[in-house]
Amino acid sequence: MQQGFLIERIPMEEQSPIGQIKGVGPKTEALFHKLDIYTAGDLLHYYPRNYDRFEAPVALADVEEGRLLSVAAHIHKRPELNMNSPLKIVTLTLTEGEASLKLTWFRMPFLKSKLQPGSYYIYRGRVVQKRGMLVMEQPNIYTPAEYEALRNVLQPIYPLTNGITSKTIGKAVRQILQSSQCRQEFLPLEIRKNYQLADYQDAIETIHFPSSMEELVFARRRLVFDEFLLFILTLRRLRERTVTNPNTFCMQSSPKVEQFISNLPYQLTKAQQRTWKEIEADLCGDKLMSRLVQGDVGSGKTILSILALLLTVEHGFQGALMVPTEVLARQHYEEICRLTEDYGLSFKPILLTGSMSRKEKRQAYDRIELGLANVIIGTHALIQGQVIYKNLGLVVTDEQHRFGVRQREALTEKGDSPHVLVMSATPIPRTLAIILYGDLDISVVDELPAERLPIKNCVVDVSYREKAYRFIEKETAAGRQAYIICPMVEESENLEVENVLDYTEQLRTLLPGTIQIGCLHGRMKNIEKDSIMESFSRNEIQVLVSTTVIEVGINVRNATVMMIENAERFGLAQLHQLRGRVGRGSHQSYCIFVNGSKDSRNQERLEILNQSNDGFFIAAEDLKLRGPGDLFGIRQSGLLDFRLADIYQDADILKNCAEAAERLEELLEKEADKEEVQSLNAYLREYIDRKTSQLQL
Ligand code: ADP
Ligand code: MG
Repeated sequence: MQQGFLIERIPMEEQSPIGQIKGVGPKTEALFHKLDIYTAGDLLHYYPRNYDRFEAPVALADVEEGRLLSVAAHIHKRPELNMNSPLKIVTLTLTEGEASLKLTWFRMPFLKSKLQPGSYYIYRGRVVQKRGMLVMEQPNIYTPAEYEALRNVLQPIYPLTNGITSKTIGKAVRQILQSSQCRQEFLPLEIRKNYQLADYQDAIETIHFPSSMEELVFARRRLVFDEFLLFILTLRRLRERTVTNPNTFCMQSSPKVEQFISNLPYQLTKAQQRTWKEIEADLCGDKLMSRLVQGDVGSGKTILSILALLLTVEHGFQGALMVPTEVLARQHYEEICRLTEDYGLSFKPILLTGSMSRKEKRQAYDRIELGLANVIIGTHALIQGQVIYKNLGLVVTDEQHRFGVRQREALTEKGDSPHVLVMSATPIPRTLAIILYGDLDISVVDELPAERLPIKNCVVDVSYREKAYRFIEKETAAGRQAYIICPMVEESENLEVENVLDYTEQLRTLLPGTIQIGCLHGRMKNIEKDSIMESFSRNEIQVLVSTTVIEVGINVRNATVMMIENAERFGLAQLHQLRGRVGRGSHQSYCIFVNGSKDSRNQERLEILNQSNDGFFIAAEDLKLRGPGDLFGIRQSGLLDFRLADIYQDADILKNCAEAAERLEELLEKEADKEEVQSLNAYLREYIDRKTSQLQL
């Protein structure tokens, strides 16, 4: 960033605490914080994940599983309230002739008195199958007049947390939009004209409250453009700081590492060998390494990071391995400890996890600072936090789908810039990767270890469940293990937990008692998650029922079955990741995708997974099927840190942005005293500052 610019920030209002918005009390404020919304600006950029168009209510007899719909009916029988359950479930049964439908609400006991017999409401929610019955979970309740007012308008649906509704969020957004101080345009007119971009203020307003699909598409395009552009410009800023850095942690190839490689029980694949040579050349070269290693799940990236770490500690430097989850941190830690012992490596590993006590953490920090530990394995936050390294020479980031600016920044801010190695299983076409990761060199591990048997896949409907359980029974009898992924619930995490617990309970009655069944979900304490994962990896648990928390990186080679319920609700890339949890050892593995919907397009989408085990192919086919018009299709979870942008679907915009970034850099330099260039600069500065300050935890 150039010196001497006015430090003109965006007006205070965008940065006003969320609690200052009219109608947001302390309780709602706390809920907003849970959603990572702290300021008015955060809220404006908290985009709906979809829009609802309220349809006419359907007759009870026409209610179908898996759909979000409305029913209208008189109440004949009082609702029941189950006070024994911690969730205080209220149940109402609607009837209409022969047809009936059960409605349930969690933690809303007051509904018992609201829903009086004789009254007539419209209920809207998702219908699921539970114990053979159709149930509408957590429906919203409207009077006929309220419902009519909402018909045929696009209603924003926001990602939620328990206790907050889309209505509450929408209201708060409207409050902010009324303050004209917010939302200043920051792109110069020239750029907006050139790329036919909506005005910033209009775009923000429209993304929350579109009145038509066309308007929405136009607004979204602008905001996607912004996301890419800021990402690219920020990376460029960071590169300015790093690219000139000489290699202060210079290494040489080491016979110890070569020996370790030749002693491994397997031979490295050609792709692994090539990538290792590239990494080694970087570490021994005259500039700091910034390398992205891309390889499909199971291509064997972990060993590459271990080799790089080994070379690092062989030279007396420290290395850090950052991973997104604690479970994964522990797994890598154990693997490194095992290898250290088996092969007499020079690692002195240490684990840093959030579930460690304060005292344990302090001891770990001491050992790191004194250099008594030379390889540090932990989650991002911990490694970036208060740790002081003695001489950190290399940072490896594993399973980096969410490669954001934050991590990059953190690494370069830690005193002497270390070498950086990023491992990712996200299949990004090379051309796009170059634009996105501009400053990183890229290696592609495009080969799976030879001994692998391809995973056998099948896409089935729910009637196949029984057969699937028998199959799992057979596999466990043969000594293998299985994962079952529970349906994803978008509405609330609580429902998701409910679902997993319910499912596990039911499964216990359906599988023989000799099979140990464990259960894993995001609400568990880390320490519980770890202990479940450990039991699973020791085969004390044979069947693990889980939400997608096991999605990344987990490596249990003995697991051979992956069964995914409601597969249609997941993005293909995510399903591919989940499938990657099996087929990691020498046994034949299987993946069962259970399609819970009757929609033939879902079947078609899922068949893509059936055809291929290749992440690149799957991503490309998925894009073809979804088509560019599908703006809010299933989000590819975890793919980079963008809110709206999708690198596949918006590849064209991304290319435009790369071009625009060039031009903006030019403007920033040559026309720095123009007002609109100053406001761009202020915006950028604020943006980068904010990204950076989030690091100092
Ligand atoms: P990912 O690329 O998904 O991170 P991992 O590094 O976890 O994959 O590797 C998956 C499994 O494959 C591990 O159990 C690992 O020990 C094994 N593996 C890695 N490289 C090879 C190889 N060249 N030959 C055989 N097995 C390998
Ligand atoms: Mg991995």
